[in-house]
Amino acid sequence: MSFQAPKGTFDWLPPRSEQVLAVREALVGPARLAGYGYIETPVFEDTQLFARGVGESTDIVSKEMYTFPDKAGRSLTLRPEGTASVVRAVLQHGLHNGQLPVKLWYSGSQFRYERAQKGRYRHFWQVGAEALGSEDPALDAEVVLLGAQGFASLGLTGVRLLINSLGDKTCRPTYRAALQEFLRGLDLDADTRARIEINPLRVLDDKRPEVQAQLTGAPLVIDHLCAACKSYHEEVRALLSAAGVAYEDDPRLVRGLDYYTRTTFEFVHDGLGSQSAVGGGGRYDGLSEMLGGPPLPSVGWALGVDRTVLAMEAEGLIDDTAPGRVQVYGVPLGDEARRRMFLLVTELRQAGVSADLAYGGKGLKGAMKGADRSGARFALILGERDLAAQAVQLKDLTTAEQTEVPLAQVVDVLKGKVQ
Ligand code: ATP
Ligand code: MG
Repeated sequence: MSFQAPKGTFDWLPPRSEQVLAVREALVGPARLAGYGYIETPVFEDTQLFARGVGESTDIVSKEMYTFPDKAGRSLTLRPEGTASVVRAVLQHGLHNGQLPVKLWYSGSQFRYERAQKGRYRHFWQVGAEALGSEDPALDAEVVLLGAQGFASLGLTGVRLLINSLGDKTCRPTYRAALQEFLRGLDLDADTRARIEINPLRVLDDKRPEVQAQLTGAPLVIDHLCAACKSYHEEVRALLSAAGVAYEDDPRLVRGLDYYTRTTFEFVHDGLGSQSAVGGGGRYDGLSEMLGGPPLPSVGWALGVDRTVLAMEAEGLIDDTAPGRVQVYGVPLGDEARRRMFLLVTELRQAGVSADLAYGGKGLKGAMKGADRSGARFALILGERDLAAQAVQLKDLTTAEQTEVPLAQVVDVLKGKVQ
């Protein structure tokens, strides 16, 4: 019997996996330059953290969580997203008692029991940035800008930024009521009708064409903003424009829960079919209080690494010609040579030169094939005669030129050549 990765999951393998690591790093590069510090939280948390912090009425909590009892009977859940854990950690450690905003970034696996398809997995990777404890349109603009720069730094040109405002506790209730009144007049199934009463904004997000067709005349939150929310939103947009960030106003962009306020945004890529969102975020002024903390107005995003890699593929930005695994490859001929080569390769690595050698007692032909496959620029061939002469044959695999170098000098010679 042989095992397969579980449904909805997959493996990243070399050389692609190296590029994935680089993508994760690049996406958060701009945030790190803006003073965001790295936070690592557990992969599982108390189930109640997500029930409250993501919201009972969301698909994530109602259908998609990997929840299990531990051996002591605690209900734990594999994290489906990062924000709730970040807020939990900030409150637990009192980070909000220091200088505000608290700026943090993370990178990690997320787990959602979803319908597995291209771009939608049950185990996927997000990087995130969160700025907690300030209500300032410049902070919203910074967060959005840092996300846009993350994508741009990868060379992606097809990422579009959609933004909207969801209002706040002053204006959202009036809007919610107007939306509910509109939705109650539509021809919808029982589940969706129930959603109108619990979480009407989420109905706007329904992807089914028969639902979308009925939503054309739905009231828009942007038309119901109070004066404060309107000017806040104008300021965020003006700052983004001033910084040269292209965005599109999307009055239908929503997040279902009450603790999401004001700025909301999504990064989409048109080369991904229906799984077009490569990242999303917004302001969540009410979340801290939902988790038992003080008011802590905050804004952040999460970017999907796997979909970003797909977007890069769509734009032809993934280079699948395997980059050299190592710079130097050792070809020892015989037992004594193997012992010496083992030491030589170790010395090379200590000197910062990446190096590998032929294992398994291969002959010259097999070992040279290994050298080619390794992508190395140089092969070091060590035979009995070389050992006796305290020398090694240095072969440049791109030109096939071969020179003899004293063993005592070869590390320095190679250091000079590979730099
Ligand atoms: P979608 O509308 O596509 O379901 P979402 O609103 O659930 O996305 P968020 O919770 O905002 O997504 O997560 C941020 C990003 O994480 C998404 O924009 C996407 O790039 C990525 N993401 C979310 N769910 C998945 C998944 N199941 N597989 C791969 N990437 C995902
Ligand atoms: Mg989703």
